[in-house]
Amino acid sequence: MEFVSVSATSGAPPGGTSDGAPLQDHVINLPFSNGETPRYVSNFISIHRLRPGNADEDGTGNPDDIFDDEEVYVTKDMLEEVLETRVGGKSKQVEELELLGDGHHQNSTEAIGLGRDIWSQLNSTGGPTTQPLYTFDEQKVQQSVASARSSRAKETKFGARTGAQTRAEREAALQHRPQATQEDVKEWLQALKTRRGAENRLCVNAEQFHAVAKVAAQVIEELPNRAGAYSAPSGPLRWVVHGGPGTGKSHVVKDIVKEELFEQILYWQQGLDFQVIALQAVMADLLQGDTIHHACGIPVRKKGADGEVVIQTQKAVAEQTLYWRWLLIDEFGMVGSSLLAEVDMKLRDVVVDVNPYKRSGSGHAHPFGGLNVLLSGDLWQLAPPSGGFVGNIPAEYIANARKYTPAATISHGQSLLWGGPENKDWAFHGVTELVESERCRKDQWLQEVQLEFREGKLSRDSHAFLHGYVTEVCGSWTNGRAACGNSLCQKLSEIKAPWKDMLTAERGCHICSQSRQDRKRVAMDASDKRFADPHDTRFVDAPAIFPNNDIKYDVNKQRARQYAATHKLGITWAQAKDQPLPQTLQEKPDLILHKVSWLSRHDRECGDLYGMVPLIEGLPVALTDHLDRSPDKQLLRGKIGRIHSWKVANTEDSVWEEDVRILHELPAVVYVKFENCKWHLEGTPEPGIYPIECVSRTWYLDKGRKYPQLAIKRRQMPLAVGFF
Ligand SMILES: [Zn+2]
Repeated sequence: MEFVSVSATSGAPPGGTSDGAPLQDHVINLPFSNGETPRYVSNFISIHRLRPGNADEDGTGNPDDIFDDEEVYVTKDMLEEVLETRVGGKSKQVEELELLGDGHHQNSTEAIGLGRDIWSQLNSTGGPTTQPLYTFDEQKVQQSVASARSSRAKETKFGARTGAQTRAEREAALQHRPQATQEDVKEWLQALKTRRGAENRLCVNAEQFHAVAKVAAQVIEELPNRAGAYSAPSGPLRWVVHGGPGTGKSHVVKDIVKEELFEQILYWQQGLDFQVIALQAVMADLLQGDTIHHACGIPVRKKGADGEVVIQTQKAVAEQTLYWRWLLIDEFGMVGSSLLAEVDMKLRDVVVDVNPYKRSGSGHAHPFGGLNVLLSGDLWQLAPPSGGFVGNIPAEYIANARKYTPAATISHGQSLLWGGPENKDWAFHGVTELVESERCRKDQWLQEVQLEFREGKLSRDSHAFLHGYVTEVCGSWTNGRAACGNSLCQKLSEIKAPWKDMLTAERGCHICSQSRQDRKRVAMDASDKRFADPHDTRFVDAPAIFPNNDIKYDVNKQRARQYAATHKLGITWAQAKDQPLPQTLQEKPDLILHKVSWLSRHDRECGDLYGMVPLIEGLPVALTDHLDRSPDKQLLRGKIGRIHSWKVANTEDSVWEEDVRILHELPAVVYVKFENCKWHLEGTPEPGIYPIECVSRTWYLDKGRKYPQLAIKRRQMPLAVGFF
């Protein structure tokens, strides 16, 4: 995959970098096509853009109370102005300056400039555009909106569903399936050890097998053998699978444990016999799992947690967890320590007392209500924004082994993980460390660089190679030797020969000169030939990482226009409708004169709603809110789809002006297509298409104040441009 990092921090001068200098500049191109790398990027982005969970409170009351203030209509001449992004740091609020530093405004402005340079040159083409002329059957539109509403209603019922009906269904599912035996699991495990897959490689390497065998041994302990007899129980297992990028954690947890062992061998069902949970909706979605808060009925209180629409009742959670034997927690490094503690306490609470796994023989309550727990993740990533990092060893364990007090605190969560061998009754029992990298085996050098990044100690030469600066070793230098095999290259590198000698030698060594060229992954400016090549479209759709929201917002708007130009499509703009609340107008009646300028504010200031949403067929868009939590759809915040089509309001009177149309009213509905979906809403042409209507949010012009007063109600489509 390609991804792009836009930052204005200027790069180190050629030949003048220091050891461990951060690679934060410009554009990086790493050759990963799939697997965990996108997830790492996504985790990184998530940490950076976690949003408050309760953004959807709407204090507007009766809409009739709103003053009849003037509507403003953006015209084509005004478009450039409203698409400018108001850069943070400009306002001289003291707190803001302290937080962001004086340079923030300048850095953002420079970075926005760089973003514009890059995305205005990519495949920019003029010429005629096509403009969509959709015709809709009004009845079908109504039908689709109605089926979407009933789908959303199902979600609430699903969350609140308790009692005999559900239990009857669950028990029926349990009764009507074959009972797996100890021997079934043993035979499967034995075969797995030597099974070979693609390219005749082992399906699991030795470390991965170790982790799987650990889980299998526990499963066997809880199963009958073919004669119907059980083994003596030794208590639940709590285990950690830990490893860096490319070591195959997902392969172990998702492909082997979940899909093969649990679902195929044991005939288990997710949600009934086990649950896979993650902190954020988008991460849970990758594993078809649930969010921690939802699955365990833990209300979202903290800033930075993922917002939840449905908080399950204690009874519903107890009902759901009734037959669970395993809890798989993915990306546990992102789960705050206090949240892990809350999960523990919650499960101790909801698992019924008659459950034979809940207590030890001596009556001691097991953590997590006696469930087996498998954590997977990498603690060598960014720590979560709140709730304490589970990767930190609690201070009391370094000094002495003090007993924990059972409250949902940070140290409780850390103690669960780090309690150590003498606390086996409640701590995790151990860890399988996955070390062998399953990816980049063809590029040893890149593997080395990845390891340096993970350990936070990028070497001077690696940094120089990535940027195309002067190095002390030859161009093919890998793992302490010249990969070209050329003895001159080897010798010059060993003696750290002067740069000019190295260059001379490399002119005669094709491998070194080619390899040096390949290692320069960072584009220093918009003129890099990787952007300029009209046939290279990789960067048109590449995800991007931004150091702050101003730049992200601005670049996304640029990229939407770029996208339209590349595909020769016109752009329809949906303009947000802002209405100050009555008390706001009473306080500052002249506010409405500034309405147009509110459209330039970035979405985070305005209830996560864009000032101007570009509607372009095929444009990637992200949901800015949980849209539909029904089990088959899981259309949650951050989910990316593509715009399929839209229907303007029946009274819409705007017209196309060349390649631009600025709607006077919000569209009646925008259809977004989600890939790989089986569900098919009535009234829509194909599976995966969902009708999205506008929402309203309240935001504050003076949100920096302790008690914000100037409330504005904004209506807009809950969509963000989805290039991230
Ligand atoms: Zn060489």
